[in-house]
Amino acid sequence: MSALAQRIDVDVAAEPELTDGFHLVIDALKLNDITTIYGVPGIPITDLGRLAQAAGMRVISFRHEQHAGNAAAIAGFLTKKPGICLTVSAPGFLNGLTALANATTNCFPMILISGSSEREIVDLQQGDYEEMDQLAIAKPLCKAAFRVLHAADIGIAVARAIRAAVSGRPGGVYLDLPAKLFSQVMEAEAGAKSLVKVIDAAPAQLPAPSAIKRALDVLKSAKRPLIVLGKGAAYAQADDEVRALVETSGIPYVPMSMAKGLLPDTHPQSAGAARSLVLKEADVVLLVGARLNWLLSHGKGKTWGAPGSKKFIQIDIEPKEMDSNVEIVAPIVGDIGSCVTALLDGMKGDWQAPPKSWTDAISAKKEENLSKMASKLRKNSTPMDFHGALGALKTIIAERPDAILVNEGANTLDLARGIIDMYQPRKRLDVGTWGIMGIGMGFAIAAAVETGKPVLAVEGDSAFGFSGMEVETICRYNLPVCIVVFNNNGIYRGTDTDPTGRDPGTTVFVRDSRYDRMMEAFGGVGVNATTPDELSQAVNAAMDSGRPTLINAVIDPQAGTESGNIGSLNPTSTVKKKPA
Ligand code: ADP
Ligand code: MG
Repeated sequence: MSALAQRIDVDVAAEPELTDGFHLVIDALKLNDITTIYGVPGIPITDLGRLAQAAGMRVISFRHEQHAGNAAAIAGFLTKKPGICLTVSAPGFLNGLTALANATTNCFPMILISGSSEREIVDLQQGDYEEMDQLAIAKPLCKAAFRVLHAADIGIAVARAIRAAVSGRPGGVYLDLPAKLFSQVMEAEAGAKSLVKVIDAAPAQLPAPSAIKRALDVLKSAKRPLIVLGKGAAYAQADDEVRALVETSGIPYVPMSMAKGLLPDTHPQSAGAARSLVLKEADVVLLVGARLNWLLSHGKGKTWGAPGSKKFIQIDIEPKEMDSNVEIVAPIVGDIGSCVTALLDGMKGDWQAPPKSWTDAISAKKEENLSKMASKLRKNSTPMDFHGALGALKTIIAERPDAILVNEGANTLDLARGIIDMYQPRKRLDVGTWGIMGIGMGFAIAAAVETGKPVLAVEGDSAFGFSGMEVETICRYNLPVCIVVFNNNGIYRGTDTDPTGRDPGTTVFVRDSRYDRMMEAFGGVGVNATTPDELSQAVNAAMDSGRPTLINAVIDPQAGTESGNIGSLNPTSTVKKKPA
């Protein structure tokens, strides 16, 4: 055979290298620097998780999809890259959907990827295994939803999902991958060419110069200006710019819950401890990545003082946010980094700090409130009350400012938010816009995985119950998570009874439970703490060792108020009827 003939022969015989849907999904994510998946394995995505792990991705398997979804969402908040949640079809998808909706509500970028059943059978409603039109159900609950039917489209679909999640106002995206897609085979070279690396996924959005000028004119006219920092400002990672705006302007600020630590809560310009005063008295309010929703009393009512006493300036990336609840006299639409920089540029030269009478009034109120609080925090009673226990945790975060605080509950949430000072950006993760319970373990796990920092999860006993089984996940991955369960025997308080005497009251749990033993069941450290000293010793030991730890903090069942600080949102009946 001639040399030429021999070569042709070899070429014809050589099989082209192949790839399939599984590998293309993984390659598409990796190409876009997405290296972690949070999920629960099962039909049809079991092999996807396995292959992703083999390809070097971190795959964190949970016990329930909602917590994997919450983990993905908060990973998105912490990194500005979409967090990935991977679930099975129908029920697994629905479990993940709560987290997807919550992410969208909170403006956290995430992508829920769910396997689904066969289109032909689902659409004819012929009763497939886990049959459900998942795409239609996801659509109203997220920013965008896509289905992929051909392996060659996976690259484009992943690119669109990433862009949709992080550009403009971030949020949740759903990606529907029918079972058949995963085993579709195509030539590897064509497959590689079909992938898309997203360039500039969240482009800077510069504000119009006229909008900046309008805002500065209003700000300069203020006698009692105030800045409100929201979690959009924390998400933006424009930490230096935001700090410069506050310090250059000299304007007092209040942080929303998850914006705490953007500047240290001990900053002299923080008006956090005089929140009621400043919201009521301010004449011009600059909102930076904070919405005038229920958490800010919709910008009106008693909280905000006399009607018409305020002018609002708002920085937001979402133009539709403007005038959502009240008139915004100076809307600034753009990304926070660019908007704040433009404001700073405009302040050069003739900027005047706010009147001293205003800042002095705030300082006086702060001092008064802080000294009232200080004695409560030193209380060393047994069983503990909320303040005594939180006083111990406040000291720990002051000594370990790079630890991440996860916080949920009712009283446990409301009091911790006010008491525990934060010192660094994006260290406080909590129930967010919906005030949702159940984020605890998902957030704690992702915080540990994404940052490698120690995590302190301060949990009401009820709140913990929503995601408590994930302590096994924490032990399995040996994560540096210390959970403190504020155990007051129930929801709000542990004192409810059934008026008929038949059953336990509706808001109480088993008395004197030992949540610490749940952690011991999986090889972690469990501690029962009955005093603030025992509590702080146990937390410090956990933070030093990095070992998964759960501390059952015994709180007086009488302590706590119904619905915490938001009792006014909870209707109560005034009609009296005799028990049956
Ligand atoms: P908080 O509850 O802390 O007040 P919200 O979630 O209500 O915060 O508001 C966050 C706001 O931040 C949203 O309106 C969102 O559109 C906006 N936002 C998010 N990221 C950015 C960004 N990079 N630039 C500008 N605005 C942003
Ligand atoms: Mg409780």
